[in-house]
Amino acid sequence: MTSKELQQRLFAVGQRIEGAATRAGRAPGSVRLLAVSKTFGAEAVAQAVAAGQRAFGENYVQEGVEKIAELAAMGSAQGLPGLEWHFIGPLQSNKTRPVAEHFDWVHSVDRLKIAQRLSEQRPADLAPLQLLIQVNVDGEATKSGCAPGEVLALAQAVAALPRVQLRGLMCIPDPARPTEQRRAPFKALAALLAQLNAAGLAVDTLSMGMSDDLEDAVAEGATIVRVGSAIFGARAPKAPAA
Ligand SMILES: *Cc1c(COP(=O)(O)O)cnc(C)c1O
Repeated sequence: MTSKELQQRLFAVGQRIEGAATRAGRAPGSVRLLAVSKTFGAEAVAQAVAAGQRAFGENYVQEGVEKIAELAAMGSAQGLPGLEWHFIGPLQSNKTRPVAEHFDWVHSVDRLKIAQRLSEQRPADLAPLQLLIQVNVDGEATKSGCAPGEVLALAQAVAALPRVQLRGLMCIPDPARPTEQRRAPFKALAALLAQLNAAGLAVDTLSMGMSDDLEDAVAEGATIVRVGSAIFGARAPKAPAA
């Protein structure tokens, strides 16, 4: 993709977010765009940076860490602005260290052990790692994420950890859900966030909505939408190993 095309696609996604926010009576600036750059190279990220994008999402630990280093090198060579990196993929406990050391956010905390390790491994000279709890809103046994009924207890435990800051919740609803249920999982996640705030936790972030359903997510209160293919194009079918 040329820089021009990428710039136009980013702009179009921005317009979709703005339109959905306006229709929902929300300030357009209340929704942040996370550009999901998994499987795309550092060049594509640099093009997006040139078009004004600053926050990027990665799913695979090794690929993400390599890309962060490449962008940092390009950044100091070309005077690019600092970027914000979000880890959004499934996280195994033996892979937490590089994530704690290199990322700014983790969206996929689904059990206390992962959050504890991230907390222990977060270097003291970096800002607290910003955490979201991933919730399995569809209740599918095969999918990752904490069960809705366990979110409050997990959130309270995570909020007590040092060097990390609990910011809110994330979900990846079943993309094959029927049209009349497009918004239900997003509504459920927003209700859970309200429950956490009612219980005294100060959380402000709902990471929900992707290329195909960001309008539904924004209508239900998303504060971060994670968009990959609508920006960078279709991904190659096979993902690299984590
Ligand atoms: C790949 C991915 C996205 C982006 O998906 P698109 O449909 O390409 O926008 C968002 N969130 C997560 C967790 C992903 O793995």
